[in-house]
Amino acid sequence: MQYRMPAMNEYARPVLNPPGGAKKVLLHSCCAPCSGEVMEAMLASGIDYTIFFYNPNIHPKREYLLRKDENIRFAEKHNVPFIDADYDTDNWFARARGMELEPERGIRCTMCFDMRFERTALYAHENGFPVITSSLGISRWKNMAQINDCGVRAAAPYEGLTYWEFNWRKGGGGARMIEISKREEFYQQEYCGCAFSLRDTNQHRRDQGRPEIEIGKQYYRLDNKTTGS
Ligand code: SF4
Repeated sequence: MQYRMPAMNEYARPVLNPPGGAKKVLLHSCCAPCSGEVMEAMLASGIDYTIFFYNPNIHPKREYLLRKDENIRFAEKHNVPFIDADYDTDNWFARARGMELEPERGIRCTMCFDMRFERTALYAHENGFPVITSSLGISRWKNMAQINDCGVRAAAPYEGLTYWEFNWRKGGGGARMIEISKREEFYQQEYCGCAFSLRDTNQHRRDQGRPEIEIGKQYYRLDNKTTGS
C-alpha cells in the first residue's frame, strides 16, 4: 500500500507566537518548497499572514516564473494573500557586481538577503505589518545566523517593526518541508537561484560527470522519482 503524506491538520505542531503577540505577519517567501511548512505552521496557529514574493536574484526568468507560480498555486489553495513584487534584476546584478566569484554563504549571499529583506521591511512598514519573517532559513543549505542578521538589519530602521528569528527547521519542520513538497508535488529547484549559483552548480555536476541542470525538469514525488514538466 502506498504511504500517504499527512494533511496539514494531521501534524502535531507547537503553537507559534510571533514577537509581541502579533497576529499579522509579512512572510518573505523564496519558493514553494521552503515556504510550504512555514505557511502551514502559521495557518495551524491562526496567524494572519501575507506572502511577499520578492526574489530578483532568481535566474533565468523561466526558473523565476516556475518558482513563483508554484508558490502562487499553494497560496491560492490556502487562501493566503500573495504580493507579487518586482523582478528588478538590473538592480540585483548591479549590487552583485564584484562578487561574481564569491562562494555560497559568503558576502554575495549577505547582499542578496539584505536586498530582499530591505524591500520586505519597506512593504511591511508602508502596509501596517508589525512583524516580518522568511522561509529562507528552513533550508539546510543556508546559514541561519547569516539570514537572521540580514533580517534584523532590514527591520531596524522602522520603529515597531520586528524580524521574527524563528527556527523553522526545529521540531520536525525540516522533515515536514520535504513531506509537504512531495505531497504537493512542488517544482524542485536544483540550485540556489542566481546566475552564479547556476554556473557553480553546473560546474560541480560536470566535475562529477553528471549532466547539467535542466530547468523545469525536476518535481518532488512520493516515490522520489523525477518527472519532466
Ligand atoms: S547563491 Fe543564493 S543566496 Fe547567494 S547570491 Fe546567489 S541566489 Fe542569492
